[in-house]
Amino acid sequence: MTTTLPLTGKIALVTGGSRSIGAAIALRLAADGAAVAITYNGSPDRAADVVAAIEAVGGKALAIQADAGDPVAVRAAVRQVVADFGAIDILVNNAGIAINAGIEDYDFADYERMLAVNVTGVFVATQEAARAMTAGGRVIHIGSSMARYAAFPTASVYTLTKGAVSGFNRSLARDLGPRGITVNTVLPGPTNTDMNPKDGPVAAIVGQNIAIGRYGEPDEIAAAVAFLARPEAAFITGAEIIADGGLTA
Ligand code: NDP
Repeated sequence: MTTTLPLTGKIALVTGGSRSIGAAIALRLAADGAAVAITYNGSPDRAADVVAAIEAVGGKALAIQADAGDPVAVRAAVRQVVADFGAIDILVNNAGIAINAGIEDYDFADYERMLAVNVTGVFVATQEAARAMTAGGRVIHIGSSMARYAAFPTASVYTLTKGAVSGFNRSLARDLGPRGITVNTVLPGPTNTDMNPKDGPVAAIVGQNIAIGRYGEPDEIAAAVAFLARPEAAFITGAEIIADGGLTA
């Protein structure tokens, strides 16, 4: 007897899928039945591990080196997914960076890099994917709870980029809704990753304000993404799911 999983037959692309939240999303979408492509920038070995883990349980996976801050590379990556897998049904804009500093000292090159990766990368991947998607398509952004509540200092540029994603999310839902494509954002709160380890400097500031009393784990963000990716989430669009353990409650 064959079991049909919720995402059987679907093709997903997760940007920044080599580590941390992106890797957890890739593994979760694959476990739910999707063929999954990931992009990565600096971690080819970790990307290969994610592909191997999916293939080891009979899934289909592909890793593509594509700096999210390079529009040509991002566009090419989306086109490669469509060429190699035949379509794209789910785009997860996860790749992101955080360069934090006070506004007085913020380096302009760092500002431009933040915009390139966290905003322009999202726009380009979404544009290219939207051109190829058909009804039932899913665009899922990984924003941040910082777009709702600035929980610690020095993150003004990071929050600027994530606020842009939240605005893009709402308006894009109106553009793509008539085509049967939903657009939603998951807003993680403090999540235990290389970017924000549960024993790191941010944890020392925000830890006590998390209602659940601990950091989130990448799997818990992936669960929210997986829900939005499912066919049963077809009436949810332009929405944000906050997965922050109650930091912003
Ligand atoms: P990590 O830094 O732990 O991992 C980042 C991932 O993104 C890696 O797989 C990395 O790949 C990839 N990546 C980074 N830069 C690029 C780039 N230029 N091009 C392609 N891939 C890139 O981050 P998290 O997992 O913590 O964060 C993932 C997302 O979640 C981000 O958008 C972040 O802003 C957001 N977020 C995280 C929170 C947290 O507390 N952790 C809270 C709220 C939001 P590689 O190593 O191959 O370059």
